[in-house]
Amino acid sequence: MACTLSQQDIERAVFYHGHMCPGLTLGLRAAEWALEEFGRDGDEDIVCISETDMCAVDAIQALVGCTLGKGNLIFRDTGKIAFSFYRRSDGKAARIVSSAAMIGGAKDGLRRQLLQKQRDGIALSLEEAVLSSKMHKENVARLFSLPFEAIYSVKEPCWELPRRARLMETLTCACCGEGVMESRARLLHGKTYCQTCFKKLDDR
Ligand SMILES: [Zn+2]
Ligand SMILES: [Zn+2]
Repeated sequence: MACTLSQQDIERAVFYHGHMCPGLTLGLRAAEWALEEFGRDGDEDIVCISETDMCAVDAIQALVGCTLGKGNLIFRDTGKIAFSFYRRSDGKAARIVSSAAMIGGAKDGLRRQLLQKQRDGIALSLEEAVLSSKMHKENVARLFSLPFEAIYSVKEPCWELPRRARLMETLTCACCGEGVMESRARLLHGKTYCQTCFKKLDDR
């Protein structure tokens, strides 16, 4: 079945992310599935481990309610478009992962070329710009129309349910004087340092 998200939900995610793109659409399809299977997070009952920090994850943050700020979105950089969802109240858990064919159209050489040009800040010719926007829109439309099963495989999560974040003390770095969460602070010769200063000391 094609995407069943409401127009309102789609608009909310686009507003949050800043633009509509194939990456966000991949995220929207993941969010659609997560909302159906796990519901919308209210009070950190649902946890998501995202294996991507690109466009797609913003749809999860905007719609499922797993966010970096709430601590129920964890980023594990495996370079995959994959999301593991966990529901604390009943222990339900699942991981969905997208195939390479869905993500990049890696074989689609022309599209890649044009995207790379844009990233490098090289102006596209009018013809190229029209073509690029056409391919972009077609890709978004394709991801909206495909059934979920064509985009994602559902698997078992690779990780245990992450523990709830415990309250941390804030310490003061002996070098820059900035406050730093105790779990991230480093100790050297009995003094506390933030990671940035510790690295500078270490490099000397
Ligand atoms: Zn995007
Ligand atoms: Zn410091």
